[in-house]
Amino acid sequence: MIAVAALPTAGEGGAVAWDFSTDPEFQAQLDWMDAFVTEEVEPLDLLWGSKPYHPLDDDLRAIVDPLKEQVRDRGLWACHLGPELGGRGYGQVKLALMNEILGRSPWAPIIFGTQAPDTGNAEIIAHYGTDGQKQRYLQPLLDGELFSCYSMTEPQGGSDPALFETRAVRDGDGWVIDGWKYFSSNARTASFLIVMAITDPDTDAYHGMSMFLVPTDTPGLVIERNIGLLGERSPGGGMHALIHYDGVRVPAESLLGGEGQAFVIAQTRLGGGRVHHAMRTVGMARRALDMLCERAVSRRTRKGTLADLASVRDYVADSYIELTQFRLLVLWVAWTIDQGGDPRDVRRDIAAIKVVTPRILHDVTQRAIQVHGALGVSDEMPLGGLWMTSPIMGLVDGPTEVHRTTVARQVLQGYEPVEGLWPSQHLPTRIAAAREKYADHPGALRTAAGADLVEHQVGNL
Ligand SMILES: Cc1cc2nc3c(=O)[nH]c(=O)nc-3n(C[C@H](O)[C@H](O)[C@H](O)COP(=O)(O)OP(=O)(O)OC[C@H]3O[C@@H](n4cnc5c(N)ncnc54)[C@H](O)[C@@H]3O)c2cc1C
Repeated sequence: MIAVAALPTAGEGGAVAWDFSTDPEFQAQLDWMDAFVTEEVEPLDLLWGSKPYHPLDDDLRAIVDPLKEQVRDRGLWACHLGPELGGRGYGQVKLALMNEILGRSPWAPIIFGTQAPDTGNAEIIAHYGTDGQKQRYLQPLLDGELFSCYSMTEPQGGSDPALFETRAVRDGDGWVIDGWKYFSSNARTASFLIVMAITDPDTDAYHGMSMFLVPTDTPGLVIERNIGLLGERSPGGGMHALIHYDGVRVPAESLLGGEGQAFVIAQTRLGGGRVHHAMRTVGMARRALDMLCERAVSRRTRKGTLADLASVRDYVADSYIELTQFRLLVLWVAWTIDQGGDPRDVRRDIAAIKVVTPRILHDVTQRAIQVHGALGVSDEMPLGGLWMTSPIMGLVDGPTEVHRTTVARQVLQGYEPVEGLWPSQHLPTRIAAAREKYADHPGALRTAAGADLVEHQVGNL
């Protein structure tokens, strides 16, 4: 039996509006963002680098604060947050369209108050934090005054929480945390970390771990190394910390949410973030496609331009088609979230976009590099940086293989094994059943045999 539900559906039973347009008022906001990022924010990338996650000195603040003010005046600051937190409470489609623009520039998320991992961290503190935690951590985070870190992955455990070892043990009126965490992004510039630790070793990882809010200067918290990414030259160390939590004592009120809730909280955090990452990737790949096309129509060969060559036209067409497919998939998933789609379907489709994200970025930037020749692999174009972001996107928030497994498992859940030897679409079996159904009709026995039927069906394609 074909499980139609395994394919994307747009809601059960109700009337569904499929509308691919953007309302003019919001389009005007997007147009403003587009020009603002190009003219005001991209120069920051060029002069102050691609690692903006640090408290600003007074000189830089004099440039950055007025830009943030313009974003606030325009009503575009931290739009992922609800109005009660000073945001607009935009749905995922609007956020996706905004992130497509923000993805072009490392500084843009800072200027618009939407930088990861602070967005996700703010969301979970807003959702699960006590009043005291919100006052201490959330407000300055929302104001862009401090940065935070999400410290979950472990050196030996990687993407499998069942192998995590970091423990938090009750001690008097507080907790003591011991263990190692790996690739804790921005820990070196963060004011506090959200740390995942085992609090009940007698139950499974999904129910025995809790989250703690830990100020970075807590005694016992030692950043052993700051690790850089491939292609980075980071003499002072990269942005991804290997951290030793060596008897880190925190008070009871550091617990975020209830004991054993870490996994549920982590899931809250990652859903929307993956859609935003995907749409930022659309922005990056779009930038690579723009470079590809500009070079194709500019670079001359003996017989014309590169754009006259069939192979280059193939690169352009394939890149455009694949990117458009991916963009529509991401926007469609954003739309199903806004429609309150079945959470299981949403999880499957978020995993699906996570699988495609690194592939799209790789394929489009690879072709753009090829068309630029030596210039493409030089450090005088941004293409190398975009290209190297692709394998990173295949690991951040869990490896591609794990998400592919999620997609396959959920799709397969919509199917039942057939009884008997033959598949449900086995033609001789179906023809026999059809003949039985029309046994009383004199013409039924004279109708086409299986082979003719196959031919007939192929002819219908
Ligand atoms: C740029 C960057 C920033 C990051 N920031 C943070 C952060 O801020 N906080 C944080 O906690 N973590 C962070 N991480 C860590 C990230 O979550 C992990 O890299 C990811 O979960 C994979 O873990 P791992 O690197 O140890 O790989 P491993 O778990 O060792 O996996 C290695 C490979 O093994 C295969 N594999 C593993 N498990 C499976 C499986 N179940 N099925 C099929 N194949 C599998 C895959 O090919 C996978 O790529 C960051 C990573 C990167 C690259």
